[in-house]
Amino acid sequence: MTRRGGAGGAQALSLLPVDPPAPPAAGLYALVAVDVGGRGPDQLFTYTIPPEQAADVVPGRRVRVPFGQSRSALGVVFEVATASDVPVARLRPLLQVCDGGPVLRPVDLDLCRWLAERAVCSLAQAAHALLPPQGVTDKTALGYHPVETGADVVEQLRHAPAQLAAWQALLAHAGATAAELGKRGVRRAALSVLVRRGLAVARPIPVRRDPFSETPLPAADTPPQETPAQAAALAALAPALDGPAFGGFLLFGVTGSGKTEVYLRAIERVLAAGRQAVVLVPEIALTPQTVSNFRRRFGSRVAVLHSALGAGERHDEWWRIRRGEVDVAVGARSAVFAPFPRLGLIVVDEEHEPSYKQEEAPRYHSRDVALWRGERHGIPVVLGSATPDLETFWSASRGGLTLLPLPSRVAERPLPAVARIDLRERPGAGLFAPELEEAMRRHLDARRQVLLFLNRRGFAPVILCGDCGFTARCQSCSVTLCYHDADRALHCHYCGARRETPRVCPRCSGHVLRLRGSGTERVAQEVTRLFPEARVLRMDLDTTGTKGAHHRIYEDFRAGRADVLVGTQMVAKGWDVAGVTLVGVVDADTALHLPDYRGAERTFQLLCQVAGRAGRGIEPGEVVVQTHTPDHYAVAAAATHDYATFAREELALRQAAGFPPFSRLLRVLCWSPRAALAEGAAVRLAESLRPALPPGVDLWGPSQAPLAQLRGQHRWHLALRGPDGPTLRRLAREALARTEGRLGGARVAVDPDPFSML
Ligand code: ADP
Ligand code: ZN
Repeated sequence: MTRRGGAGGAQALSLLPVDPPAPPAAGLYALVAVDVGGRGPDQLFTYTIPPEQAADVVPGRRVRVPFGQSRSALGVVFEVATASDVPVARLRPLLQVCDGGPVLRPVDLDLCRWLAERAVCSLAQAAHALLPPQGVTDKTALGYHPVETGADVVEQLRHAPAQLAAWQALLAHAGATAAELGKRGVRRAALSVLVRRGLAVARPIPVRRDPFSETPLPAADTPPQETPAQAAALAALAPALDGPAFGGFLLFGVTGSGKTEVYLRAIERVLAAGRQAVVLVPEIALTPQTVSNFRRRFGSRVAVLHSALGAGERHDEWWRIRRGEVDVAVGARSAVFAPFPRLGLIVVDEEHEPSYKQEEAPRYHSRDVALWRGERHGIPVVLGSATPDLETFWSASRGGLTLLPLPSRVAERPLPAVARIDLRERPGAGLFAPELEEAMRRHLDARRQVLLFLNRRGFAPVILCGDCGFTARCQSCSVTLCYHDADRALHCHYCGARRETPRVCPRCSGHVLRLRGSGTERVAQEVTRLFPEARVLRMDLDTTGTKGAHHRIYEDFRAGRADVLVGTQMVAKGWDVAGVTLVGVVDADTALHLPDYRGAERTFQLLCQVAGRAGRGIEPGEVVVQTHTPDHYAVAAAATHDYATFAREELALRQAAGFPPFSRLLRVLCWSPRAALAEGAAVRLAESLRPALPPGVDLWGPSQAPLAQLRGQHRWHLALRGPDGPTLRRLAREALARTEGRLGGARVAVDPDPFSML
């Protein structure tokens, strides 16, 4: 399809070899999804199509449409029709056709429709997740070419050495940009003169905004001999990879079992057949390190997609994928939508990670999207984890997914021994029990590396008056403020508010303000106090705010330029640092007591993942876990790396309580700056839902959310529980439709299969 110079001006689409061209539309009316906050899945607005644009307006095309009295908005054409339900007199023509062709293909429009239903959002919100960034176009620069005039140019430029040098550079590098020529010593002024004299012409050429411009291609690696378990997994995958055919697989491999090598080989096979692959990794694990694993094997055929890219880079990577100029896309959550022309495989690494759930509209889970695409495109989907989401595991154990086990670490390396330290027997002990301190000493003396994990940043999470019990709380969120030693101030970890630390109690003027509990800052200080010689690094949100900081800390630690790394869950994910022989968990219980049915599962996963960082090199690893609940089944099972036992206990509890995977949940959150409005909206929705509930569906609430206030918004919620998701989603949509315009201006979010109940 070559249709240059559409009304939008962007020429990117002109190069598309993507889908067969859409049939010429003889339609008169365009049904357009416009993002105006609507939430029905079928909310399309009708516009008339001006005759001169009839050929260009096809499903999937972006258009600009009039909206309201005097505004315009961007939308996506979903359908073109020859008849309209809306009286023609009330219709307005669409204003402009954007891009050089349709951005979304028919299969993408189907995905939008599915997503709108699945996430209870509007088609426009769904489409937003599939579109390249808005308002960005291809970047061009001028490329310079020499012009043969027949004259002796060298003679002509005899007295202008700068121009002569520029001319000679052009002969050798025709089409180069001024920036590229500049690196060869050619000055811009000289180029301009050559153009003026008719000896050179400048033509616009596309310039790629390259996310790898500062990370050169790593040297190619030699793939290791596969282990028998890896070979078995690949053999089981082969028919689906080669078919290709849909299949859902759970690559269930303990930490250090070599899951990545299985992905790499599966992708190799897909590429050899001329198809392409998407690899999802959790946002936090999307380090240059992870990406270079793939670049080492697949070179420049790798694109990346994640939130740290600039809009221009994202635009360019998106189109490279769409045009099939690359074969592998590595990215975070939203990369699951990567629009490859011949998709052959989707990998979701660490599939249990909460970051795969998008917490704003469209509220999707990448795993669900991956499985939908797998089925639709007829290709395999590989979910990988050492600690699968219980819902995934349950599905696998009932035959919904094929289980591919990697039961042991590569090279017969043992999983680390885990010791639990019962903090209840150590009242008043310092941050580290003697066992942990002694272990740190032992490993540091042996010149090995230590990783300390505490899932809480700052110095102390609570500041408390010893006289009256006052605690400092955030004014716009219902949480205590955390003391940070770096600026000696109080911080809210939810809204970011910062306050001076009071010298006396604001309530009773008492002078005994105490810091309670500890965060990573305090842990790092304590390590330095106990081991003044040790080089200590800290990795948490506070130390990784600047671009590349995360990578720098990781590289320093990996290269052995530090002995101890203290960190939050950032350090638990997928790291492969051979020097780490001791992992200390300062407090294993942080997630256990959250008001969330997943608390035990999160605890088990985090402990297994962080313990899995120890002993990945030649030396065996050791893990020390400090806990107040050593006998809790999640802590006990993590200590023996025993997923099966944990899953059995947790599934029995979930079944008894009727929680997922034995039911489905859907949460509705209402918020407003005024408490009464948030409450009123939740009450009204509940009233609308209650008479509509079919047997087997429960309504919980309405009640104040556990996080009753966030960023100044008061929050109320309610939840539906029932045997199947579609029923819950239909009930929610219908209740929203019935209460439309009667919720007092409170904002409402529907969250099917919620990850957070806070
Ligand atoms: P996981 O993701 O399962 O925790 P990784 O994929 O990070 O494990 O692999 C752990 C380590 O084992 C890596 O350093 C990797 O290079 C290495 N490895 C993987 N497969 C093999 C193999 N077949 N032979 C030797 N080393 C391997
Ligand atoms: Zn706050």
